[in-house]
Amino acid sequence: MIDVPRLEAGLPVEGLGEPLYVFPTIGSTNDEAKSLAEHGAPHGTLVVADEQSRGRGRRERKWYSQPGSGIALSLLLRPRSVGSNESSLTALGALAVVKSLAMRKLEAYIKWPNDVIVSAGKLAGILVETSWQGDQIDYAIVGIGVNVHQGSIPQAALDFPATCVDDALGSKVDREALLLDIIANLGAWYPKLGSEEMIEAWQQRLAYRDRQVQITGAGTKTVGRLEGLAADGRLVIQVDSGEKILVAQGDLSLRPIDSDGD
Ligand code: ATP
Repeated sequence: MIDVPRLEAGLPVEGLGEPLYVFPTIGSTNDEAKSLAEHGAPHGTLVVADEQSRGRGRRERKWYSQPGSGIALSLLLRPRSVGSNESSLTALGALAVVKSLAMRKLEAYIKWPNDVIVSAGKLAGILVETSWQGDQIDYAIVGIGVNVHQGSIPQAALDFPATCVDDALGSKVDREALLLDIIANLGAWYPKLGSEEMIEAWQQRLAYRDRQVQITGAGTKTVGRLEGLAADGRLVIQVDSGEKILVAQGDLSLRPIDSDGD
């Protein structure tokens, strides 16, 4: 179970994490945060669950989260800056996880657009959902799932390998401390949303740079060398003809296609 007094003692941090709602088990933390947002909950509201029974990835795919072993959180933001959009908020979530792992000397990378990986596989996923009023975001939910202990690694067959922070580090990580660091990093980077500094930090931790990759989506497939990020966060891919194309975030899956390891 989550140590609630420890979370309460560490929050709010960087203006985030108040009010705090902690559930032993819940359908989806994103759904709960959305419902709170619809009822007027403030910027910084945080929903944490020990277990999700209907955790979601993108395209309504399942995100497995087992009790006592992972982090499942959803943070409600009411962004005011023009740099706010689903793409920059997804990057914010991934960067906050990567920076928190770096504090533990674990080098993790962002599998564009929304996954955090190490060479052994995926250890975290980000799901951002937004509600708009005209051309302004009314609220955004930044959902983050992290596999911390071994019990969080799904038993189900996955099309991309899964791992956990403990295995990647070779030692047992303090789940509450990691959660608090993720919130602190979200708060530290939030004012820099979409900035050059943030794009650069993201770029530094972009997985598969200079590797051949394929990006598949609804009926589309792009193959080429992953060059990095454009200034606006789109992915730069050099296709075989030599042409560079920019890929915007969407319901896309990125995979390496060479075989020299991750
Ligand atoms: P990809 O880019 O790898 O195709 P995605 O980013 O589109 O995946 P998401 O929708 O973000 O995937 O996440 C859902 C997918 O992640 C699931 O379909 C499943 O394969 C995988 N998954 C679900 N739970 C976990 C978990 N706890 N750890 C690692 N992977 C998971």
